[in-house]
Amino acid sequence: TKAHLSAIESARILNCFITETPELALKQAAASDERIAGGQAGPLEGLPLGVKDLYCTNGVRTTAASRILDDFTPTYESTVSGNLIRDGAVTLGKLNLDEFAMGSSNETSAFGPVISPWKRKGDPGAKIVPGGSSGGSSAAVAAHLCLGATATDTGGSIRQPAAFTGTVGVKPTYGRCSRWGIVAFASSLDQAGPIARTVRDAAILLRSMAGHDPKDTTSVDAPVPDYEKAIGASVKGRRIGVPKEYRLDGLSAEIAGLWDQGVQWLKDAGAEIVEISLPHTKYALPTYYIIAPAEASSNLARYDGVRYGLREPGRDITDMYEKTRAKGFGPEVRRRIMIGTYVLSAGYYDAYYVRAQKVRSLIKRDFDEAFAAGVDAVLTPATPSTAFAQGEQGSTDPVEMYLNDVFTVTVNMAGLPGISVPGGLAANGLPLGLQLIGRPFDEETLFSLASAIE
Ligand code: GLN
Repeated sequence: TKAHLSAIESARILNCFITETPELALKQAAASDERIAGGQAGPLEGLPLGVKDLYCTNGVRTTAASRILDDFTPTYESTVSGNLIRDGAVTLGKLNLDEFAMGSSNETSAFGPVISPWKRKGDPGAKIVPGGSSGGSSAAVAAHLCLGATATDTGGSIRQPAAFTGTVGVKPTYGRCSRWGIVAFASSLDQAGPIARTVRDAAILLRSMAGHDPKDTTSVDAPVPDYEKAIGASVKGRRIGVPKEYRLDGLSAEIAGLWDQGVQWLKDAGAEIVEISLPHTKYALPTYYIIAPAEASSNLARYDGVRYGLREPGRDITDMYEKTRAKGFGPEVRRRIMIGTYVLSAGYYDAYYVRAQKVRSLIKRDFDEAFAAGVDAVLTPATPSTAFAQGEQGSTDPVEMYLNDVFTVTVNMAGLPGISVPGGLAANGLPLGLQLIGRPFDEETLFSLASAIE
């Protein structure tokens, strides 16, 4: 714990943490020492972790990287971070993220962007983004500031930052982890999961994080397997689908090469590769950017200047409400609220929101059919490019930033588990990630396949 706290101190330039909690960490570590001495060690005893600042933490400021939650200190612990503490983990602090988890580069945080510890070849001055929204989590793990971190994934926010930083990110099946106590973005898509340095570490963390929680009615009452047992298990004869629709026009030769390399690694491990079709793939990104903002606009209605955080005085209650929200929300969050309110409004609801929900069912059905035909998992690239530098994407056109999520959003739309695993380095010296997508509640197969790639 002490070694990690001093690493955090010397890496403040990366801006990974919004809030550091050294006193709490040392207290937890001392309690861990006692449990170890008493022969009572839990599965994560004494392991120093970081917690994305979207998870409510008892007595520790929780901001969602937004000014509107300034100085909000919950009096309760999210179920998932509580599960980690129950199993002996030490918590080092709260990790930076895109505001309310909306973004793909960590540049929308009200607490400033996170810088990746990675450098682009021949370009030492460029500040490389760690991905988003879980950019604090991915950068902190990559920079060895913690052994692992919690993250959340609504449209790729675990897998894309993992791919950008050469780490492993797992988005479990919707319902595998409790959402209770995690600040809501789009409730039908949000899932908690780990970012870690190895597939094994991710498996160990997920086992502690997962499980049924009566406080989240969408969490599933099913046993949580010992995921670590899946590491190194044989993948001989497993059928891996390669979806032709992911071979986008303009896909770079480097990303296509990474994908072919992934196919080869799995073949070498004894898996069987089959070409599959997921015909509704091209609708996933536009439907995601209807459904996610719609749910966000509704979830964010609670920040009214009365119940949480920031309040700007006004002439009357409406004026106070407007001033608080105008000051408290950043530009990307405001954009989502406007899109979401529009697509939910009378007159547009059927044309946009209802239609997007129907397309979502078709996207899910594509996967159902592939799995019914005997496919055990699907292999794709995790992202359409390597990490970029701050300001290089989305500064004039937000849609450019949204395109980062083209390979990851389908998984959230279908509620499936997905893992991002490092697949080597690009010519620019930055990491590349491969994505594996599994059947519902079959994270084990993903861990076996990912360990064969790793
Ligand atoms: N980049 C996506 C978005 O901005 C995904 C975010 C997420 O998964 N939380 O909506």
